Amino acid sequence: MTKVSMTKKRFIAGATCPACQAMDMLCVYHENNIEHVTCVACDYHAQQGESTPSTSTTTSDAVPISFIPKRR
Ligand SMILES: [Zn+2]
Repeated sequence: MTKVSMTKKRFIAGATCPACQAMDMLCVYHENNIEHVTCVACDYHAQQGESTPSTSTTTSDAVPISFIPKRR
């Protein structure tokens, strides 16, 4: 075992996957100071830069954030 991935994945409680609508299937992990969100039910993957995750319960302004990628 030479390669050991130290990425800690944490499930986001109550989060719904924007791709497959599965609940509690979203994992979040940090890589290179970038927060990645991935779904274990499907292959959904998103990364967030400086923006705070939408799952924060301390935010006063509830702004819905859509992770729907632009498709053309
Ligand atoms: Zn999904």
